[in-house]
Amino acid sequence: MNTLDKNHICKFICTDPQNVVVVSHTSPDGDAIGSSLAIHKALTAYGHRAVVVIPDVFPDYYSWLPGISDIVIAENDFEKAVNLIANASLQVIVDMNALKRGLKLEQALEQANAKRILIDHHILTNNIFDAAYSTPDVASTSELVYDVIEALNPDLITKDVAECIYTGIVTDTANFFHGNMTPRTFEITANLMRKGIDIVKINQVLYHTFSENRIRLLGYSISERLQLLPKYNATYIYLTKEDLVRFNYSEGDSEDIVNYGLAIKGIHISAFFIERPEFIKISLRSEGDINVNAMATKYFNGGGHKNASGAYFYGPLQEAISIFEKALSEL
Ligand code: 5GP
Ligand code: MN
Repeated sequence: MNTLDKNHICKFICTDPQNVVVVSHTSPDGDAIGSSLAIHKALTAYGHRAVVVIPDVFPDYYSWLPGISDIVIAENDFEKAVNLIANASLQVIVDMNALKRGLKLEQALEQANAKRILIDHHILTNNIFDAAYSTPDVASTSELVYDVIEALNPDLITKDVAECIYTGIVTDTANFFHGNMTPRTFEITANLMRKGIDIVKINQVLYHTFSENRIRLLGYSISERLQLLPKYNATYIYLTKEDLVRFNYSEGDSEDIVNYGLAIKGIHISAFFIERPEFIKISLRSEGDINVNAMATKYFNGGGHKNASGAYFYGPLQEAISIFEKALSEL
């Protein structure tokens, strides 16, 4: 199957009105939320009864996005989320290449009697989709959603849609800093500006509305919890459950902390470990040819991109760190 067949995707959307469920991944980031809301708006414009379902809560700084209050969060209302999935005849999966990244929604997604299409920029390892518009060669899923909506009808790129897509692009590239940016990334962004979005205002909401606790947690992570491993040009930061209580942690507060390790001269691999109630969430980042996707896959059953991957580890924090050090020694 050609995974870059936009027209094939459009065929699943250009149908009589149907129940559509748009689903994205756990710990939703700006790209997951932005691409979901954007495609949701286009589906609704086509007359579909569409709804966005995500596994768990999104950070507060996305709460201004147009349409976000209609998202169904499984963590808050599991029965509703599962029923919506069971009653949909089309699943639109965005920014998530494997159903297991839907955590508790995985079973419902798998069992549903529905067509399933994918729009995504992760490395596709298991093609369980009826159609996929998927390539790791773009910086965000939101760019691919832009392509699909534009192919459906360019008029569907409204200002609201543009705000959602811009949020996905700016957050997944860490402010146009890294990721697989192409000239197209900037062409799309220019077109979004032409729709009247205020990018300075959006950037301020996304990056200058942190709580005092979040900024203090960042400072603490760097000053107290950053370990250098010069032998491997690597660094890691960890946060324990107690750390999170101390800084009154809320969802999203640890986003981007992993990138500060890479900001040190000579460091090319950075890891971040955060102790959550049920697992250790691991984030891995690298520069150049170092492939942390391979590391995440081989040692932690995770995945993502070559220079940015993640995983969930079900065991003690110290064990996760030890495995990371072993992985470095075997690079
Ligand atoms: P983050 O460290 O920001 O959570 O994730 C970095 C990248 O890896 C993101 O593109 C994210 O979607 C992906 N990712 C994070 N955790 C996992 C995981 O457990 N499995 C897979 N396949 N990808 C992940
Ligand atoms: Mn993404």
